[in-house]
Amino acid sequence: MINFLKKTDLKINNLIRQEFERHNEGLNLIASDNYTSLAVRSAVGSILSARYAEGYPEKRYYSGQQFIDQIEKIAIARAKKVFSANFANVQPHSGSQANQAVYFALLKPGDTVLSMKIDQGGHLSHGSPVNFSGSLYNFIFYGVDKKTEQIDFNEVRKIAKSKKPKLIIAGASSYSRQIDFSKFGKIAKETGSYLMADIAHIAGLVAADLHPHPFPYCDVVTMTTHKTLRGSRGGLILSKDKEIAEKIDKAIFPGLQGGPLQNEIAGKAVALKEAQQKKFVDYQKQVIKNAKVLADVFVENGFDLVSGGTDNHLILINLTKLGLSGKKVQEALELANLYVNRNMIPYDTRSKWETSGVRIGTPCVTTKGLKEKEMKQVASFVIRIIKNINNKEIRRKVKEEVIKLSKKFPIL
Ligand SMILES: *Cc1c(COP(=O)(O)O)cnc(C)c1O
Repeated sequence: MINFLKKTDLKINNLIRQEFERHNEGLNLIASDNYTSLAVRSAVGSILSARYAEGYPEKRYYSGQQFIDQIEKIAIARAKKVFSANFANVQPHSGSQANQAVYFALLKPGDTVLSMKIDQGGHLSHGSPVNFSGSLYNFIFYGVDKKTEQIDFNEVRKIAKSKKPKLIIAGASSYSRQIDFSKFGKIAKETGSYLMADIAHIAGLVAADLHPHPFPYCDVVTMTTHKTLRGSRGGLILSKDKEIAEKIDKAIFPGLQGGPLQNEIAGKAVALKEAQQKKFVDYQKQVIKNAKVLADVFVENGFDLVSGGTDNHLILINLTKLGLSGKKVQEALELANLYVNRNMIPYDTRSKWETSGVRIGTPCVTTKGLKEKEMKQVASFVIRIIKNINNKEIRRKVKEEVIKLSKKFPIL
């Protein structure tokens, strides 16, 4: 494919090649990224992007959909199987659109929604004032306990009981602990609220049964398909009952989207097949093991981790004690080809531009093939940079070692 591109557009071809090399000379520790298989990439780059297929299988507006229909039906069947769901919509273009569709299906503007504080782990589309969600709906928030830095269910229950939200959201973008959907389910039942799980980050872990499943406790589940699930870029919505599923289908099309991205849907189908293989479960186990190794080495070296550790694919380092901002650390690590993102920590005193934390995730490096032994090295790279934040010589040395390690585990 790249050869055709080279002939037509050398500039873009070269930039893609450089991006590819950047991955082979560095370590991507951004918790929301991942590398798909070549099989997924083949589906995404296929002829399927030629077609408009507005509607749903067997209910399309244009003719010539017999194969596209089959692909979408397979994607739906696999999604239902992998996540033990009764209904699935595989058309959302992204995780945010999936959430938007759920709100559009179940809420009226101004309705109250209870979600996790954005600066304590939640996502932009869970009611941030700069997001459509925060401006259309009345979002209220729960947070984590100041001591344990884990979800405070007493607070969730207290707020839910007094405000009676129409919808409660369980799910986060930077939370390193398991989310107890059964506890959320109990609260939602007590208050007569809909319960949505947004498993964007942990979908792969759930698919591998390494994180509790959101069903039967939730009414709806949204996710991205490109994070731990390791599929093509996009979103997915699952629902428990028919009435909600029908509302969701209508909200996606014609409510919010036009033609679905059939090539991405084929990529989702392929990823969902891969997700049923033993290799995938082994991969997800390694993702968690690798995150635990990072956590252990950081703690041994006196670093503070939010909630003290991890149950999943990510850790959050609290830099307060070191007097460093997340921004400063992110930038220093980038100069050594180590990629992380600055992230707010619970009760952060710095702004979202500076932050007092960095988020470090293992999905990409685990796909690359790194295991416990290499993760110890990775942790020591990060620690050396942070402890010698302005030392150019150490940074240069670490960068050399990063390149050497990364090259031993080329991406495809
Ligand atoms: C990543 C993420 C999303 C949004 O996904 P996009 O595909 O970037 O729109 C939604 N919710 C959570 C919890 C996420 O982590």
